[in-house]
Amino acid sequence: MKKKSVRKKIHIISGINIILLIILIICGSIYFQGNKGSKDNDKLYGNETEEVLPGMDDEINDIPHEQASYPEEEQPSKDIVSNEELTESQELALYSDLPYFIGENTERYINYKKQNPDYPYEKIITYVNIGLDCEFYENVNIIDDGHDITVLVNKYNKLPDDFKPELVQLDSAICAPGVGPQYLQKQAFEAFVKMHEDAKKLGLNITAYGTYRSIETQHWIWNNAVNSGRTIEDVDSLNARGGHSEHHTGLAVDVIINNYSVEETEEFQWYSKNAHKYGFIIRYPKDKEHITGYKYEPWHLRYVGPEIASEIYQSNITYDEYYVQILQPEINLQNTQ
Ligand SMILES: [Zn+2]
Repeated sequence: MKKKSVRKKIHIISGINIILLIILIICGSIYFQGNKGSKDNDKLYGNETEEVLPGMDDEINDIPHEQASYPEEEQPSKDIVSNEELTESQELALYSDLPYFIGENTERYINYKKQNPDYPYEKIITYVNIGLDCEFYENVNIIDDGHDITVLVNKYNKLPDDFKPELVQLDSAICAPGVGPQYLQKQAFEAFVKMHEDAKKLGLNITAYGTYRSIETQHWIWNNAVNSGRTIEDVDSLNARGGHSEHHTGLAVDVIINNYSVEETEEFQWYSKNAHKYGFIIRYPKDKEHITGYKYEPWHLRYVGPEIASEIYQSNITYDEYYVQILQPEINLQNTQ
């Protein structure tokens, strides 16, 4: 009986153990499942949180990209600017072989290009050499040799106050009625007489309306125009200031009459196509006011010699452009030899 009751106890204990074991397994299983679920939830919420709050994403991303995320004012702008300047200098250097490239104007070329990015470099260099990166009558150069027939007189180039050319008086028969005594330099005088005579054979009468003017006369004309109530800008667009007038050279002649009615004459039709053969150019052409500083003046002829006049006539550029592109480099070359 003792053995039986012992066996029975062992059975009961074993049964309890098995039940405990099962309970243990179930609890363990629940615990394990619970934990696993919790981790999945963390992960899910974590992802959702990152997506819902982009700020966190930024914070995380900011760390490895710290150098690329300078605030605006702390941008390394100096490096960027110097790179741009380097590029412009390099671009400009491609044009340094142009005969009219002037090394000491480099900074002005770069600055003018920044203001006019659409202009090709040839134009930039030409315009700066003329002086167009400065206002008219700014940065004025006093002319060395006013007696040269190729002299450039404009708003940036002034004849010396005491400049006086050698002059020849024109016969009144080749002057417009009532204009008084007229004078030109000898070469311009001879060319004008020849042109007048050739035109006369065709039944045309090309007369001198205005020729040489002294600096005093030019001052008077300009002051008078301003005192008449016109704006300085308007006066400057048609009248030169003292020392800046081509009429002071004795190489310029206003023909027939100095207003736009001249365009309606047969004489204009002829001389606008033939004056260059005698050495004259229409010095202030249409639509070039931004270069010459003067409105179109169909009556104002300037003597530069037949060769140069023909080149300008054919290329349709202003004398200002021709001078800095073609003549100035030759003059500079001669001065260095
Ligand atoms: Zn004139």
